[in-house]
Parts: sequence; C-alpha cells; structure tokens
Amino acid sequence: MTALKIPKRISTALINSLSAGVVPRIGLEYVAVDRKEEIAALLQDLENISEAGAAFRFIVGRYGSGKSFLLQLIRNYAMERNFVVGDCDLSPERRLTGSHGQALGTYREIMRNLSTKTRPEGGALAAILERWFSTVQAQVVKESGMRPSDHDFNEVLEGKILEVVNNMEGMVHGFDFAAVLKTYWQGYRENDDTMKDSSLRWLRGEYSTKTEAINALGVRVIINDDSWYDYLKLFAKLVSDIGYKGMLVILDEAVSALDKSVEAQVLNMLVDLKEELGLTYVFISHDLNVVQYLSDRVLVMYLGKIVEIGPVEAIYGNPQHPYTRALLSAIPIPDPKLKRQRIILEGEPPSLFNLPPGCGFYDRCWARKPSCRGEMPPFRDIGDGHFVACFAEE
Ligand code: SF4
Repeated sequence: MTALKIPKRISTALINSLSAGVVPRIGLEYVAVDRKEEIAALLQDLENISEAGAAFRFIVGRYGSGKSFLLQLIRNYAMERNFVVGDCDLSPERRLTGSHGQALGTYREIMRNLSTKTRPEGGALAAILERWFSTVQAQVVKESGMRPSDHDFNEVLEGKILEVVNNMEGMVHGFDFAAVLKTYWQGYRENDDTMKDSSLRWLRGEYSTKTEAINALGVRVIINDDSWYDYLKLFAKLVSDIGYKGMLVILDEAVSALDKSVEAQVLNMLVDLKEELGLTYVFISHDLNVVQYLSDRVLVMYLGKIVEIGPVEAIYGNPQHPYTRALLSAIPIPDPKLKRQRIILEGEPPSLFNLPPGCGFYDRCWARKPSCRGEMPPFRDIGDGHFVACFAEE
C-alpha cells in the first residue's frame, strides 16, 4: 500500500478545521471515505450544467448527518472541473428576499466567496476577470500573429473583450453591468488600481448609495435587495461566456431563515431561476414539503451516507428505505380529518466516532435482519434512476 501524501498547506487546514469541529473548505477529498455513489450522482449534475442545463438538488437529513461535508466536497470537485462556485450560509441577516439589506447580504456573501480552481478559498472575482483578459490576449496573439508590443494590438484585444461585454447589454440591468466591466478593463489596461477597486466594489454590491457609485464610476444604479437576482444571472452568463463550465451556487439552510409569508415567493423565484438560467443549486433543507416542491432528484442521508436517491416522484410516492419512510411519515397533512400513520423511530443515532458495523440504521430499524449487521448495504437499482441502500426487499 502506498502512503497518501497530503500537501502540508492542506493537511494543516484540515487538522485545524477538524479540531475546531467545522467542515474544512479544502482537502476534503483526502478524508472522504466510501462516498463513491453520492459523488457520482452529484457529478452528473455538474455535467448537466456544463451542457447548458440546470437543476435543483436538495440534500436532506438530520443535523449532523454529513450534508455540509458533502456540499463542501462537491464544491471542491466543481472547482477542479473548471466551474465557478459561489456559496452562502443563510441566516436572519442573509436571506433570499428582504428589504433591509438581508437579500443584498446573500448576494454579497456569494460574490465574496466566489471560488475557482486557482482561488479555492474565495475572493476570486478579480482573478476571474483578469484570467479572462489574459486568455483573450493569448488568443489574439495566436489568431492574428500580432505581438503585445504591436501598435494595433490593444485595439484588437479590446474589441474581443467588448464583444462579450456588449453582448450583456440587452439583458435586464445588462447596460450598467457592462459599463462596470468596461471600467474594470480600462483600469486593468491602464494599471489603475482605483478604477479596478471601484468596479470590484460595485460588482460585489458594496456601494450603499447611488451618489457613491456615480462619483466613483459614473454608473447611476447600485445592486440592492430588489435587483441582486438579476445581477447574479448576469454574472452566471459572464462566467459561461468567458470559458468556465458554468456557475454553481450552494445555499446552506436555504429556506430555514425565511418566515412563511415570503417563503412561497422565494420558492417560486427559485423555480424561475431553474427555468431561465444555467444555474444548478445544491439545496439543503429539513423542510420536506419544500424539497418535494422544488427538486428534481432527492438524496436522503443518514449518518453521513446517502441511503436513498431518486426522482422526487419515486422518493415521495414509493419510498423504499425505512429511514425515508419514517421521515416522510412525519409530514403533516393539512386536513384535520385525515391522519397519517406516523412511524416513530426508537433510540438515537449512534456516535459518528463509533459507528456500528454493517447498516448504520440497524439499531433503529423495524425491518432489520441479523444479516444487516454483517456488511454495509450496497445501492440496489430499483429502476428509473431510483436507488436504495438497504437489504430489505419489497
Ligand atoms: S439494511 Fe437492514 S437494518 Fe439497514 S435499513 Fe435495510 S433493513 Fe434496516
């Protein structure tokens, strides 16, 4: 057996995060064990985005079941495959909709956390733009045979950059977005840090008054609670146009921070996003009704492992794993005359540090057999993309 070599920078970050009890942001692939099927399913979503598709993906499970770990793992795989990833942990201050800066707070967090393969720890906005400029520069050299010192070189280069930028002017808010990108390009070309910093601040939604934006950039609008969604769309289009495979947005606890009066609007907005954009959401929720409403495919996790995966209709209409059945039996029916047979699970989940052999659900499962203790149940294909990790067969 060959020893696994982990770069010092990564091993230190891993140890620090694990000692503090938080999910590490880098190096997770070195500590992920037995996640092959889960990863393959999520990688299929990335394939769909790279082919201009879109999807929601919900990850459902109890606290501590490993959902955030899996999300961080996918975030890392997405960056490795040349996606731009933006992520945000929602909270009362960072919501999908709000009128006192809470919605803008979400946008700011996504833009602050933008990550790529070469900037995995976030803060990649400037690097994304500058990589684009240098890629176009190399293209111009290759295609035209010109050298950067040639008289017309900058003009040809600018033409190629403005081709992409001008393409965005027809979209909602595209004119101002394009104007700010042009200013960043100008700052880059003239080595003017003030112009570059002002443009980045605007793109990150950090101007709080229009006056500031006019003075700094000559742009009469700023990104706010009402418009952030349009700018996220513009940014997603930009990254696809400049050579990335697409954009992945990860929202942790996406609807838990909302009150019910706005939740429905937000959910509908997310459905619109799915239709209109090449965005894919990996969406975590404990709200099973929300999961059913929004998702195409559902993963159910227990103790850090996926126990069932499949199309939403199959999971809700024909759940196979005893844990999935218990979860779904807890959904209230909004009719006092109807009653659902609730499945109450016995006991508590075991410690993640001292997992029992065989099936992790064994001690709480009413359908268990002695053989379930012997080995971990593999995924069983029950057709139409529905898989269950359980030895019990119907
Ligand atoms: S493998 Fe056995 S113990 Fe595990 S969920 Fe299925 S029936 Fe229950």
